[in-house]
Amino acid sequence: MRIVFIGPPGAGKGTQCGRLAAALQIPHLSTGEMLRATRGASALGKLVASYIDQGQLAPDYLVMRILVKRLEQPDCVDGYLLDGFPRNLDQVQLLDDHLEQQDQSLDWVLDLQVQEDELVRRLMKRAESEDRADDNLATIRRRLTVFHDQTAPLLSHYRQRGLAVAIDGMQSPDAVFADIMKVVKR
Ligand code: AMP
Repeated sequence: MRIVFIGPPGAGKGTQCGRLAAALQIPHLSTGEMLRATRGASALGKLVASYIDQGQLAPDYLVMRILVKRLEQPDCVDGYLLDGFPRNLDQVQLLDDHLEQQDQSLDWVLDLQVQEDELVRRLMKRAESEDRADDNLATIRRRLTVFHDQTAPLLSHYRQRGLAVAIDGMQSPDAVFADIMKVVKR
């Protein structure tokens, strides 16, 4: 099964993706984590860090290159869960092209919905407990704006294709997960 998980920062994507990937026994592919892993002293590492730290999207070609390398690993043959990709309409096209080349298609696009004030509250709490350089109020606001401007339009696109299903992310983590499982078992 190939699933795309879309949700604003702070919606609980990471947690739910971890649980879903374990339940379906498919790899959880987070482009945010892949990019954070390339941070470092190299020219590429510095470039990547500059985008992440400003809450801006890294260049599409760069993210796609890193992602395709991962998709080519043998553990992705039976499916995968994409967390944080695609994030704009150009990335939708890149993913479609890749899937078409492989004669594959997506099964679901899960749309995890959480109200904005709750997202800010959760992200500020995460900033206190985790050491993520992009969890400060200014960057959080920018990441939410980037989500609304660039990523949210993907949802109507995937809805039109009959792939997107809305999940109420305001519930407890267990209730959210139960709703997700109901969808993927359909
Ligand atoms: P995340 O962990 O998904 O919240 O991603 C953290 C940061 O990594 C984002 O704010 C972006 O700077 C970068 N990033 C992650 N995924 C992508 C993507 N698909 N395209 C561009 N930048 C990305």
